[in-house]
Amino acid sequence: MGNIVAIVGRPNVGKSTLFNRLTQTRQAIVDDEAGTTRDRNYGKVEWTGKKFSLIDTGGWVVNSDDIFEEEINKQVHIAIEEADVILFVVDVLNGITDLDTQVAQILRRSKKPLVLVANKADNFDLHYSAAEFYAFGLGDPFCVSAINGSGSGDLLDAIIAKF
Ligand code: GDP
Ligand code: MG
Repeated sequence: MGNIVAIVGRPNVGKSTLFNRLTQTRQAIVDDEAGTTRDRNYGKVEWTGKKFSLIDTGGWVVNSDDIFEEEINKQVHIAIEEADVILFVVDVLNGITDLDTQVAQILRRSKKPLVLVANKADNFDLHYSAAEFYAFGLGDPFCVSAINGSGSGDLLDAIIAKF
């Protein structure tokens, strides 16, 4: 099946937008409302001759914080089991939330190869905000804007370097 990369993170950080950017498709459903991506979505990516499968995790069924927490934990654990590399997506516009901290803790314990993605870094000023994500202890945050595509080449380089 080849290398598998899973995108995890709390709702609304831009996982599906990033999935679309990296797979260059509109496969994932992107919506302003948290809770849109019903199922995990698979796509193929090829970068500098290397191929991998990308999974957009989802399954946020109801708008209850408790369910979110339970669902996100489930998705993160599935990703830890199935994936070779995890993309942990956070959001520079909203900064660190409790749910981010919780996911970071699970990922840190798993010792799974991981790339920390600071999404919504739409302009250079926002890159400075990404420094707060060093607090996770998960290495350097990669600043990207899934919406305008900036940083996606460097991110892809970082992903394939983990295989
Ligand atoms: P998901 O719930 O993590 O899959 O997030 P979505 O991909 O559905 O995106 C949630 C919202 O964030 C949508 O309104 C997107 O348009 C927005 N969004 C995603 N990526 C970016 C980005 O790079 N910059 C900005 N400003 N907004 C983004
Ligand atoms: Mg989504």
